[in-house]
Amino acid sequence: MSSHFAPSTDDLVANNQAFAENFNGIHPVEPNRQMAIVACMDSRMDIFSLLGLGNGEAHIIRNAGGVVTDDVIRSLCLSQRKLETREIVLVHHTDCGLNGVRTDEFFAELEGELGVRPRWALEEFKDPYADVRQSIQRLRNTPFVEYTDHIRGFVYDVETGLLNPVDEG
Ligand code: ZN
Repeated sequence: MSSHFAPSTDDLVANNQAFAENFNGIHPVEPNRQMAIVACMDSRMDIFSLLGLGNGEAHIIRNAGGVVTDDVIRSLCLSQRKLETREIVLVHHTDCGLNGVRTDEFFAELEGELGVRPRWALEEFKDPYADVRQSIQRLRNTPFVEYTDHIRGFVYDVETGLLNPVDEG
């Protein structure tokens, strides 16, 4: 697969020129639903489409797994304190690339090839529901995320397109 790799950023630049011709995207910097969404980076999840969300409505914070890490807390802290969001939605999903990766093996592979182990945690998991609960718990435990009355977590099923709610337990 990688032997056939051809960079395609130029395609995106051309797409952008067409986009800019019909541009009507002037919105206030504050998301108008006062919402922040933390989701996995998975390429099969079109967050706007699957939630029926529009441009200007929410902050979308994405990483591998949609895990609440220190950097996600940084973004949420800014989102709440400077940009007035008050609601958080977490979206993890089935068949995640992080599901079943093993930290010990992955870090040994990195150390073997590169001579260094990362400082960051891999944040792998086995059960996406348990992983959502852990992320919610991190939001409840940090002083930097002040508004925690409206937090909801979901596991998106990549085979049905449906969001399954996660009971905080
Ligand atoms: Zn994922």
